[in-house]
Amino acid sequence: MNPDEVLIQIATEVTVCQNCSLHKTRKRSVPGEGPPNAEIMFIGEGPGFNENEQGRPFVGAAGKLLSDLLAKAGLERMGVFICNVVKCRPPENRDPLPDEILACGKYLNRQIEAINPRVIVTLGRISMSKFFPEARISAIHGKAKEVDGKLIVAMYHPAAALHQPNLRPALESDFAGLKNLLHPASKVQEEETRINKPAITTFLQSNPEKVAETKADYDVPPETQLNLF
Ligand code: URA
Ligand code: SF4
Repeated sequence: MNPDEVLIQIATEVTVCQNCSLHKTRKRSVPGEGPPNAEIMFIGEGPGFNENEQGRPFVGAAGKLLSDLLAKAGLERMGVFICNVVKCRPPENRDPLPDEILACGKYLNRQIEAINPRVIVTLGRISMSKFFPEARISAIHGKAKEVDGKLIVAMYHPAAALHQPNLRPALESDFAGLKNLLHPASKVQEEETRINKPAITTFLQSNPEKVAETKADYDVPPETQLNLF
């Protein structure tokens, strides 16, 4: 499967996934969106109220700030991949629990592998701890560290800056530093990406049969499955 296909496959799987208890309270799962060849991938914490309604990441107040920060840093939101550590909303926006992060991690790991971004930006403490479990965000935010051939940069969560406006200048300057981490040709590539590669969610919305098909596959009762394989 090429990266497009892997991302579509993941997006279809999470619509019916029951691998952790978050499936019980979700309205819509939120796989993430962006071009399969994005050079930068943002990883937030988990869907909130608006994301759960719409099935898209970062569409509420924190999402508006994320879009503003990207624009100010000279980056197109359409050119980056945006997702979360868990794909379903934790009730009352509580922190995702370790077993939920672990269960959903297989989707995130597959997304990282398929996109193979040059830069991964973690938004907030929960996302940071995937890569730097012992670190303090106040000490390492905005500093790129190479891990397995990728640059990982921890940043404050935009929602944190909404509650604590004193974090905003740090967040802005960390975003402003992102462009320096990209290849010089990436501006052109970003433009091409935007034109040629529709976002995953857009694909799913215009191809509802893709979701329905997978649902049907998963709905096969276990006895029948034994006969099939
Ligand atoms: N906060 C997150 O971490 N992710 C979202 O998608 C929205 C808000
Ligand atoms: Fe599945 Fe992830 Fe949703 Fe849990 S949060 S049900 S692992 S998609």
